[in-house]
Amino acid sequence: MTKALYLDDAYLKEFDSNVTKVEGTSVWLDETAFYPTSGGQPHDTGIIKADKDYKVIEVRKQDGEILHTVDAEGLQLGPVSCVIDWERRYKLMRMHTSAHVLSQIIFNATDALCSGNELGVEKSRMDFSVPITKEQFLGFVEEANKIIDQDLPISWKFVPKEEAIKMGEAFRLMGKSHPDLDVLRMVSIGDFDIQADGGTHVKSTKLVGHLQLLKFENKGSKRKRIYWELTQA
Ligand SMILES: [Zn+2]
Repeated sequence: MTKALYLDDAYLKEFDSNVTKVEGTSVWLDETAFYPTSGGQPHDTGIIKADKDYKVIEVRKQDGEILHTVDAEGLQLGPVSCVIDWERRYKLMRMHTSAHVLSQIIFNATDALCSGNELGVEKSRMDFSVPITKEQFLGFVEEANKIIDQDLPISWKFVPKEEAIKMGEAFRLMGKSHPDLDVLRMVSIGDFDIQADGGTHVKSTKLVGHLQLLKFENKGSKRKRIYWELTQA
């Protein structure tokens, strides 16, 4: 299994690794900080440096491994150094944390879980199966920004599954992918929120900036979709 360095250190931007397998433009590393598309968070991009720079254009999970797709063939087995496109990743970290804050506000108010989400660099989307109005959503966004202003610290720890189950609510996931693991990674936002989550987050909520509702879509009496963006922190 590829060692996922981003789980221990979301702020790791450059790292050394070893190419363990290459098939055309598909590359496997023994450890990686490149985040693979999962849990609504899009993959990282960046560079693998060897005899030349190979651009990482896609990263995904496959059979327990993390598979990198690069822009050219020719990468050889052995040591490489890697650099993540930090501007893109950092925006996605801010977005991911903002999604946790907003979904917790909405859960507290309505008991509704996020039923789908797609985080983006410029804007993000979440779906909720609950009959609420645009005005209510605007209120939730305002509340989320108040939580952000408290500058709550974000931390994560690995917890055995039995212990995590006792945390009850913590099993709410952003996506529906329930990790089939013995040990879960629990992400906490102060005492406000805790969730089993494999994503990357900023260190404290003030780094997120403020949420701004971009669009509210009424897709049925109980299907609501929202898009939001972030202001600079
Ligand atoms: Zn998450």
